[in-house]
Amino acid sequence: MEPDVSPISLQETFCFSCHPAVPCFNECCRDLNQFLTPYDILRLKNHLGLSSGQFLEQYTSQHVGPDSGLPIITLKPLDRKDLICPFVTPKGCSVYDNRPSSCRTYPLMRGVSRSRESGLMVEQFMVLKEPHCSGFDKGKARTVQQWIDEQAIAVYNEFNDRLLQIISFKNTQKPGTLDIKSRHMFFAALYDLDNFRSQIIKNAIVADLPIDSSLVDKALEDDLALLEVGMSWIKHALFGIR
Ligand code: SF4
Ligand code: SF4
Repeated sequence: MEPDVSPISLQETFCFSCHPAVPCFNECCRDLNQFLTPYDILRLKNHLGLSSGQFLEQYTSQHVGPDSGLPIITLKPLDRKDLICPFVTPKGCSVYDNRPSSCRTYPLMRGVSRSRESGLMVEQFMVLKEPHCSGFDKGKARTVQQWIDEQAIAVYNEFNDRLLQIISFKNTQKPGTLDIKSRHMFFAALYDLDNFRSQIIKNAIVADLPIDSSLVDKALEDDLALLEVGMSWIKHALFGIR
C-alpha cells in the first residue's frame, strides 16, 4: 500500500499518538533515508559528546549533489539490509531530546520555498500516513502549530531555513556545479563545526567578515554562535553577500 500524503494548514488539526505500546513501535526507524542538516548535526554530536569530525566519521555518509555540487550528509544505517537507524533501541530513540528535525516533524512533512519576488520563505505542511504507522488510530487531536510547539521544532526550522536561503543564494550567484574548493569550504563551515572553530583560531579566517566581533568571540565557546558565523562566512566568502 502506498503512503497517503495530504496538505494541512498550521491551524488545522490531525490525530496522532506514538508511544511504546503501539504495535509498530520503532518501525519508522528502519528503512532509513535520513538527511542531516547542519543544525541536526550540531545537536546530535553534542548529545553524543563527540566532536563534529568524530560524529561525521562514525555516523554519516557524505555525498555530492549531482547538479549542485553541494555536500549532502546522510545518517549511516546500522546494516545494509534493513537500514536500521544507529540510534534506535528496544526502548525507542536513544537520542530523543536531540533527534533530527525530520524525526521530530513526523508524521508531518514541511516544505519550504522562497519567493523570488519578495525573498520571503513560504512553508507548507503535509500529513504523511504510512501503512505501517498505527499512530493515527487513537491519537489525540492537535493543530500543526501545537505539534511544532510540543516537539520543539521551531529552532530546527529556523536554522534549516537559513541553510535553504544560502542554497538559494548559491543557485542565483553560482548556478551549476560548485567547484571542489567551494564545496570543502561549505562542508567545513556548516557541517564540521569543531574543525571550523580551530580554523578561526589558527588562521583568523573570519577576520574580515562584516559581523559583530562579539559573535565571533562567542563562537569560540558556543556552537550555535559558531554555526551563525559559519553561515555568514559562507554567504560572504562564496557568494559575496554581506
Ligand atoms: S534518530 Fe531516533 S527517531 Fe530518528 S530514526 Fe533514529 S531512532 Fe528513530
Ligand atoms: S506509531 Fe508511527 S511514529 Fe510511532 S512508532 Fe509506530 S510507525 Fe513510528
